[in-house]
Amino acid sequence: MRASTLDILTRAQEDGYAVGAFNVFDDLSLRSVVQAASAAASPVIIQFSVRTARSMGVQLVTDMFDAAADAASVPVSLHLDHCPDVAVIEEVVKAGWSSVLFDASHLDLEEARAQTRRVVDMAHAQGIEVETEIENIVGVEDGVGSDVLTHAYSEAELVEIARETGADLLAPQLGTAHGLYTGRPVLRPDRVRTLRKLTDMPIVLHGGTGLADAEFQMFIEAGVSKINVSTAIKRSYMEASTEALREARSADRWEPLPVFDAIAASVGETVTAHLQAFGSVGRAVGATR
Ligand SMILES: [Zn+2]
Repeated sequence: MRASTLDILTRAQEDGYAVGAFNVFDDLSLRSVVQAASAAASPVIIQFSVRTARSMGVQLVTDMFDAAADAASVPVSLHLDHCPDVAVIEEVVKAGWSSVLFDASHLDLEEARAQTRRVVDMAHAQGIEVETEIENIVGVEDGVGSDVLTHAYSEAELVEIARETGADLLAPQLGTAHGLYTGRPVLRPDRVRTLRKLTDMPIVLHGGTGLADAEFQMFIEAGVSKINVSTAIKRSYMEASTEALREARSADRWEPLPVFDAIAASVGETVTAHLQAFGSVGRAVGATR
C-alpha cells in the first residue's frame, strides 16, 4: 500500500527501528525490493536518482511505482534521491511522488536556505515531503555530489535551518560516503545523538552500503530512522546478471526470464539482509496506513 515517507519514518522512530530506502533503476529492481519487503512484512522506501528518473521518464517511474505499491501488502513510499535541480523536483511533485531530497549541499548557506525554503513551499502545497541536505555527503552518486567535504555546519545550525525552511527530514554528514569504502570511515553517531536532543525530525543516514550490522545498530540506537542503500543493490543486480548470462552462454540457452529470476532473487536477498539489520522485519504487520 502506498504511504507517506514521513508516516513510515514517524512510526519507525516511535518503535525504535530504521526503514531501508533502496535505490532502484528499472521495473525488475523495483519489484524485487517491494516483494522482499512484503515477504518480510517490512515498510520500505523506494528511491530513484535524478539520472534514472530522467532516463526512464517521471511518468513511467510513477506508473510502475503505483502498480508495485498497489500490489504490496506493506507501506511503500516513492522518494526522489539527491536532486539539486528544482525543475525535476517540480515534475515529481506534480506526478505525486511521496517525498524528495532537495540537495543544496553545493550552495553557500544563505543560498541553500533560500532555495530550500522555496522547494519546501512548492512541495508542501501538493502534500509532498522534503528531505533537506545542506552539508555534502562525500562520494559521487549517479553524477551528483563531490568527493570533497565543502560545506559543514554545527548540529544547531542544521536544525535551525531545517526548522526555518519547514523541511520534514534531515540528512546530515555522519561520516559515511556514497559508493564502496576504500578505508574505514569515521562514523559519527554522536552527531545523531546531538541532533536528537534538538529535534524530533527523522534523521537520514546516506551511504549505507558496506557498513556492518553493528554499525547500523549503533546509528539506529542513536536515532537514525531512514537508511539509504544504493550501491549494494546495484552490485547485487550486476553480479547476478553476469553469472546468469555466463550460464546462459555456456548452456547456449537464450531465455531472458531465468536471468530476471536470478537477479530478482539476488536483489531480494540483499534487501532482506538489510531489513533484518535495520530491525524493520515484521513491523508492517497490522499496518493500516
Ligand atoms: Zn545519498
